[in-house]
Amino acid sequence: MKVLTCKELVELVTDYLEGKLPPDDNSCFEKHIAGCRNCTAYLEQMRTTIQLTGMLSEDAIAPPARDELLNIFRDWNKGQDEK
Ligand SMILES: [Zn+2]
Repeated sequence: MKVLTCKELVELVTDYLEGKLPPDDNSCFEKHIAGCRNCTAYLEQMRTTIQLTGMLSEDAIAPPARDELLNIFRDWNKGQDEK
């Protein structure tokens, strides 16, 4: 079984979280994680980021408030130009 370096692991982390790694690479990944505290921390950080991003994109599907803000901002810009 090949041994992953930390750099290689970081490159595979997205595929791992999406379940896209081939079984062999998956085993190497988990073996490295089991023995490397830094990469465990990195993996947890990636998981959290993905969860947060998911929540953020749900927030983005609430357009009325955003449109209102954009209108206000546009009017404000107009006022600036006419000065
Ligand atoms: Zn590592």
